[in-house]
Amino acid sequence: MSGFLIKGVRVVGAEPTDLLLRDGVIAAAGKIGASAAKGAEVIDADGLVALPGLVDLHTHLREPGREDAETVDSGSRAAALGGYTAVCAMANTSPVADTAGVVEQVWRLGRESNLVDVQPIGAVTLGLAGERLAELGAMAESAARVRIFSDDGHCVSDPRLMRRALEYVKAFDGVIAQHAEEPRLTEGAQMHEGVVSARLGLPGWPAVAEEAIIARDVLLAEHVGARLHVCHVSTAGSVEILRWAKRRGIRVTAEVTPHHLLLTDEAARDYDPVFKVNPPLRTRSDVQALRAALVEGVIDAVATDHAPHAVQDKECEWGYARPGMIGLETALSIVVTTLLDELGWDGIAERMSRTPARIAGLAEHGHDPVAGQPANLTLVDPAARWTVDPARSASRSRNSPYAGQELTAAVVHTFFRGGATVLDGKAVR
Ligand SMILES: [Zn+2]
Repeated sequence: MSGFLIKGVRVVGAEPTDLLLRDGVIAAAGKIGASAAKGAEVIDADGLVALPGLVDLHTHLREPGREDAETVDSGSRAAALGGYTAVCAMANTSPVADTAGVVEQVWRLGRESNLVDVQPIGAVTLGLAGERLAELGAMAESAARVRIFSDDGHCVSDPRLMRRALEYVKAFDGVIAQHAEEPRLTEGAQMHEGVVSARLGLPGWPAVAEEAIIARDVLLAEHVGARLHVCHVSTAGSVEILRWAKRRGIRVTAEVTPHHLLLTDEAARDYDPVFKVNPPLRTRSDVQALRAALVEGVIDAVATDHAPHAVQDKECEWGYARPGMIGLETALSIVVTTLLDELGWDGIAERMSRTPARIAGLAEHGHDPVAGQPANLTLVDPAARWTVDPARSASRSRNSPYAGQELTAAVVHTFFRGGATVLDGKAVR
C-alpha cells in the first residue's frame, strides 16, 4: 500500500470530491479513478468534512518534569485524536524551556513521536521569574526555531521587561504571547470576582486584572512596533480593548479557549475543582461577547490551553487544586457545537488552523487540503454525537470539564505529513 485515496469528502464543507495523498502531499484532487490511485488505501469519506489539520497555539505537554501528568508523546496522541497536526508547547515545564537546550529537547521528542508537529514556545524570562530576559535569540536560532515566547502561567507584569522583550523579538518577527493577569490584583484569587464568588465565599479574580494588562501591552506593542499575542482572552472588556487596538492598526492577535466559549462561573457552584482554571470561567455576558468577537474576528483563533494535571493535583479541595483542564480531544466538537451556524466550516478552518498557523509561523500547516499542499488534514463527521469519557482520553490526565456531556461532531481520520495518525476515531499508534 502506498498513500491514501479519500473518496467523496467535502473539503471545508464544499461539494464532495476525492483526494489522493502521496509522498506527504495532496497529489491530486477531483474525480480520481482507481488506476491513478493504484496501491493507495481507499477511505470512504461519504458525509465527512475535510479541514486543514488543526493548529493549537497553546498546549501544555508537561515534559520535561511532570511526565506523570503528560508527555510529548501522550499529548501528541491526544492532539491527533482531536484533529490537530501541530501544537505549540508552552514553556512552563521543569526545567523551564528558557534555553536552546530545553526547547531543542521538546522539539526532538516531538519529532520522535511523529504524530503532530510540536513547536516549542520559549520562556520570556529566566525561570518564568519575571526578572531577567531568557536567551530569546539563542532559542530563535536553535533547531527548534522558536518564534513565540511566553511566560504563560505567569504574566510578564514588569512593563520595562515587557517592552524589552517586544523590542528583542521584533528583529526576527517573533511574537510575545502574554498571559494577561496583573498579579497584584489576583493575589489569592480562586475564581471570577462577581456575584457567584461572593455567594460561594471564594476570593475573586477581577476582570480588570486581565484588561489592565492587555491595555498596557497593546500600547507597548504600538510603541515598539512589535507583535503581541494575547493568550486565553476571557472578558467582554478585553474584547473592547482588542477591537480598539486592531482598528488603530496595532499588531495584536488574540486567542480564546473552548471552555471560555461554553462554560460560566456558575460551574463552580459545587466546588468541583475540575472547573478551576486560569483565567477563570466568567459570566454569561462574557461568554456571549467572546463568541461574538470570535465570529467578528476581533479574537483571531481558538486555542485549547490543554492543561493536564495529575489526579492528586486536581481531585482535592478547591483551594488546593491546580488550575487547568485538558481539551485537545474536545476542542473542535465544542466549537462546532457552539458556533458552527455562525462560523461555518470556513470560519472554523480559519480560526482553528489557518490563522494559528500564520501566527506561529508554521509554513507546513494551515493550508486547505487541495492539490499540491502538504497532506496535513483531518476528516470530521459533522453528524456524529458522542459522550465525553475522560477515562478513554489519550492524555495521561483526566481533568476534563465535559465528562458525561454529549457533543456534536467527531474527528474520524487525521493525516500528518501524508501518514494516518488517526483512523476510524482511533489512534493508529
Ligand atoms: Zn495562561
